[in-house]
Amino acid sequence: MDCVFCKIITGEIPSKIVYQDEQVIAFQDINPQAPTHLLIAPKKHIPTMAELSEDDSSLSGHMIDVANQLAKMEGIAEQGYRLVINCGRGGGQMVNHLHLHLLGGRQLSSGLS
Ligand code: AMP
Ligand code: ZN
Repeated sequence: MDCVFCKIITGEIPSKIVYQDEQVIAFQDINPQAPTHLLIAPKKHIPTMAELSEDDSSLSGHMIDVANQLAKMEGIAEQGYRLVINCGRGGGQMVNHLHLHLLGGRQLSSGLS
């Protein structure tokens, strides 16, 4: 499958992996928008958030748990951080493999544009 994040998961494309377990992988965004900018993705290929099924509810919960743990590891838990999921073209999603952005380490704007 021609999916950049699947290739990161198999190791075909190099990345800076900060965490992985059976279900998810987390790695540094190649074009960071903040001092901490990590991507948390399921190891199984799910194209968008809209394609999560009820059976995936423990997976999506786990992705948030991992993001919260990584925020602690990055030392940004106390100051605060942001989780973002872009969904579909109109939602600004560029890579069609579900992922959560973990952003922090600077003051983030209060707007959502
Ligand atoms: P999105 O617009 O939500 O689909 O975000 C895709 C993100 O993936 C962007 O922030 C990109 O900088 C990031 N990205 C694309 N290719 C790579 C890669 N090979 N390694 C790490 N991050 C990547
Ligand atoms: Zn994929």
